This record gives sequence, C-alpha cells and structure tokens, in this order.
Amino acid sequence: MTDPFGRNISYLRVSVTDRCDLRCFYCMSEDMTFLPKADLLTLEELDRLCSAFIAKGVRKLRLTGGEPLVRRNVISLFRSLSRHLESGALSELTLTTNGSQLANFAGQLAECGVKRINVSLDTLDPDKFRSITRWGDLPKVLAGIEAAREAGMKVKINAVALKNINEDEIPSLMEWAHGKDMDLTLIEVMPMGDIAGGRIDQYVPLSMLRSRLAAKYTLTDLSETTGGPARYVSVSETGGKLGFITPMTHNFCESCNRVRITCTGTLHTCLGHEDAADLRKPLRASSDNEFLAAAIDRAIALKPKGHDFIIDRRHNRPSVSRHMSVTGG
Ligand code: SAM
Ligand code: SF4
Repeated sequence: MTDPFGRNISYLRVSVTDRCDLRCFYCMSEDMTFLPKADLLTLEELDRLCSAFIAKGVRKLRLTGGEPLVRRNVISLFRSLSRHLESGALSELTLTTNGSQLANFAGQLAECGVKRINVSLDTLDPDKFRSITRWGDLPKVLAGIEAAREAGMKVKINAVALKNINEDEIPSLMEWAHGKDMDLTLIEVMPMGDIAGGRIDQYVPLSMLRSRLAAKYTLTDLSETTGGPARYVSVSETGGKLGFITPMTHNFCESCNRVRITCTGTLHTCLGHEDAADLRKPLRASSDNEFLAAAIDRAIALKPKGHDFIIDRRHNRPSVSRHMSVTGG
C-alpha cells in the first residue's frame, strides 16, 4: 500500500476496545461514556480486518485501546493472528498496555509470538500513580512488567510528560528503566478529546526536558526511526535509549508509515485529522474481502500529508475531538 505522497503503509494499530480499567486524567474523564458493546467489532471481525491489511502488505501490527487486555478473550485474537507470524507475512505482533493485567497475560502473550511490548507508566510514586490514573495500583503494574520480562519479552516504557507532575521525576524514571534494560520514550500531551480541565496546564515541551537531561547526561542522537514520531538518543551514563515523541513541536509526518483502526472498524489514516473511513460496513457486507479491500484502497489514497495538532488557546479545547482511547495510542 503506497499513499499519494509515496509513503509505504506497513504498520497498523488497532484499538480492540475503548474501555479501560484506569482513567488517566489526560486521556479520559472520570465518568467516560463508552460505546455500546453492540457497536464493537467481534474478535472474529477484528481478525478478518487485520488479515486483510496483512494481505495488503502490513508487516507490523499493534493492538491497543483503551486497554487491550480488558477486552474479553483478547488472547484468542492474539492466538489467531499469530498464524501470520508463523507464515512470515507479519514481522511483528505487539501491544500497548497500561500493565495492570499484564501479570495474568504475559505468559500467554509470549506463547502467541509477542516479543516486545510497550507499557505506559508515568511515575514510580504510588500516590502520584493513583492520582494520575484516578484509581490505578502501581504494584500491579510493576508486577506485570516483571512478568513480561520473565516471559522473555522486551519491554519499552512510555511516559507522558506532565507539567508539575512528573517532569522532575524523568531522570529517575529513566535510570530505573535503563537499569532493567528497558528503553524509555517520553510523549508530549496531545490535544485529543474533551477531558475535565484544560490541556494547556498539562503541556510541557520535551525540548525543555531534553535540555535539562543534557545538563546531567551525555545524549547522542541516533539516526534510527520506526517510521513514527519518535526520535531516539543514547544515554552514555546508563547505556540505554531514550525516545521523544513531540507531535506538538515537530512535524514527523513525512515518513509516516502507519494507519489506525478503531474498535468499531473506522479507519483513520492520520492521528491528527478528523478523517475517517468506515470499514465495518464493507466488512459486514460480504464474507469475502472484495468490498473491504476496495474501501481500504480508497482510504489509503486519501491519507493526508500531515497533522493539524494545535491547542486552541483562546477556547482551550482539543483540536481533534476523538479521544486517544477510541483511536488507540
Ligand atoms: N491503555 C493502554 C496504555 O495506556 O498504554 C493503551 C492505550 S493508551 C490510549 C496509549 C498511549 O496513549 C499511552 O501511552 C498513553 O499514555 C497515551 N495517551 C493517552 N492520552 C494521551 C494524550 N492526550 N496525549 C498524549 N498521550 C496520550
Ligand atoms: Fe486507559 Fe491507557 Fe487512557 Fe490511561 S492512557 S486511561 S490506561 S487508555
């Protein structure tokens, strides 16, 4: 699949549920309204949809959410998708998780061929963790991370940089992660979905955090990219890798190789646009994939050149109305 700007689309992210067992304040409001279960694609439909993309050249598949591990029987989806790893059609099957249920699932995920996972963790302070996630339990997440490592999976930690909340903790979070041979990626808050309170209050430019880190550590730019928004440095003192995802201050669109599907089967070819293509209708219209394949081709041909993120300072409202938990982070 090649889009009009010559970008080869080889990476698909799929949100398997919009539900979550946590309520991170930058992601959801406490009384979040979730989609009716009947609107969700079944696990069989998700498998068909992913398989159609793999047949079109997707090589890397990431399941996300909401929290992917709260979707009932999600392991059966991993298990069925793992056939594409065995055939060689897919080079990587992975997930992004908050880690709260990981201790229960790590072994089974590893058996399904999951080799690397991303765990989101913004702080190592249990009280702060609870206040960021509203009711999360840090020891459960830490146990999940250990279980994943014991099962042989490579873990990467993702942390959203939050002004006056965890910005001072970034060096210790990095030392902790690198000490366990886990890379750390920092993410700028993106203006997605209405949440209680404003967005500007939470925003801290990563350029500022990077300069603070550079005063203490030797950071060397690495040329590698994953086709996504992250840029990496190596940290000489820890021997680990640190990533920066800076959608608000940098444009990363020219090398974008990814598209996203929501749990209702809507395809978004850009995280920062209101564009959407419904794949559920063509998926359900026939049991062979003819309509679906045509709908995918039409959508890829319309992938926008770049994103429209901007925090609307006058109205203090998000520039993209979808929540991250619907599109999948
Ligand atoms: N529940 C899983 C988790 O937390 O890893 C997967 C879904 S979550 C939406 C994916 C990632 O998006 C997480 O790393 C989370 O911190 C991040 N995220 C959520 N809302 C965000 C926002 N408004 N700006 C930046 N990152 C956000
Ligand atoms: Fe749930 Fe992940 Fe959103 Fe936190 S960031 S509320 S864990 S979906």
